[in-house]
Amino acid sequence: DEDFDVLSTVTDDPNAIQYLPAVPVIAIVGRPNVGKSALVNRILGRREAVVEDTPGVTRDRVAYKGDWNERKFSLVDTGGWEPDAKGIDASVAAQAEIAIDLSDLVMFVVDANVGPTSTDEAVVRMLRKSGKPVFLIANKVDDVRQEPEAASLWSLGLGQPWPVSALHGRGVADLLDEILKVLPEISAVAKQEIGGPRRVAILGRPNVGKSSLLNKVVGEERVVVNSLAGTTRDPVDEQVELGGKVWRFVDTAGIRRRVHLAQGADFYASLRTSAALEKAEVAVVLLDVTEVISEQDIRVIDLVIESGRALVLAFNKWDQIDDDRRRYLEREIEQDLAHVSWAPRVNISALTGRHMEKLVPALELALESWDTRIATGKFNAFLAELAAAHPHPVRGGKQPRILFGTQASSRPPTFVVFTTGFLDPGYRRYIQRRLRELYGFEGSPINLSMRVRE
Ligand code: GDP
Repeated sequence: DEDFDVLSTVTDDPNAIQYLPAVPVIAIVGRPNVGKSALVNRILGRREAVVEDTPGVTRDRVAYKGDWNERKFSLVDTGGWEPDAKGIDASVAAQAEIAIDLSDLVMFVVDANVGPTSTDEAVVRMLRKSGKPVFLIANKVDDVRQEPEAASLWSLGLGQPWPVSALHGRGVADLLDEILKVLPEISAVAKQEIGGPRRVAILGRPNVGKSSLLNKVVGEERVVVNSLAGTTRDPVDEQVELGGKVWRFVDTAGIRRRVHLAQGADFYASLRTSAALEKAEVAVVLLDVTEVISEQDIRVIDLVIESGRALVLAFNKWDQIDDDRRRYLEREIEQDLAHVSWAPRVNISALTGRHMEKLVPALELALESWDTRIATGKFNAFLAELAAAHPHPVRGGKQPRILFGTQASSRPPTFVVFTTGFLDPGYRRYIQRRLRELYGFEGSPINLSMRVRE
């Protein structure tokens, strides 16, 4: 669709997940060099079937939209960090742990020409214990003569090995057909229960105080176990009563049971962040006021915006701040966080409990904005007023006009504007700015798309 343009979308990757609430999640796990990325590319139908295997590369984006025979799923590539020989066991164990927590089905990839290694066997034990459906993929079976090699993988006790060639595509279609027979229609891990407790993710780079905050929240309040009859609670989530309401903190296992890896920790942190965002409606991003705002902090914030979830910024360790630091922090916020000036900010101390009571109102405000719907009549009155006060500049002898608009969806609020020509990016930003001036939308990203009518 040439004339369709999503303004607030930061991502440059068409396969990146924007908002896939209940789509089942498939995780791909395996040792380095078994061909995980090649398989991901093959399944996504990307043209570049050959994969650059740059060791140690950290990728921010790990979850991709996929589909097969009109069924949608998200594909999580856990192999973004390729460790050195010493780190392999830890890396593969971490992949398996994350896959088990956060996916509905695991594709466990083994190089058929190498056969199972002791690392593979350890992972197999973890996967078998998890009870999740596992497909054992024997990769690099480029022709029929290699199939006996694949058959030797029966010994892993994961059932039938699936011989494929990720590089040439051999066997992949049959494999996907079989996977779809087993894959649930609706994800059990990213399940969205309408009317259930609101789902909160606690995010932030290592050591900002995530587990301290979780302990404060969970420890002092009553942990509600199975408070809702008939709902299956994900074991990696925790339900807590705060401010008279039950909240669900998602993927708390990712906070409690931290992956201890010297290298690659960044990669696993962003894997967890992406996965937690899939399940969450609102994210609390923690920042440590004793340190300068870093690129890593901004990356976490940008992941939240890209995911379209509501956002609250919590400045933690406020018990440690002095006047100098406070002044400098204000400047940093102006410079580095200008693009999220709409997010509510709370200054807390997870250690002393300072201002913890401000967290719930901030979450509620952000969620209220996220849920907001503006009636079409009201939105069109807004657009007419805006265009009268500040018409679009003439471009090449033409002046694009706004015909009408509507709010296509909420969570987050997404507006579609029909026009007679392409609106300047500056003008689209102006519309967004005015929307926020009028309606606030504190704590929620908003999307504005445009459709040009000839
Ligand atoms: P995580 O990696 O984000 O889970 O961070 P932790 O919760 O493990 O906290 C990292 C370190 O910061 C620990 O030593 C905490 O005791 C300390 N910490 C966390 N919150 C606060 C706070 O509000 N004030 C102070 N002074 N220290 C804190």
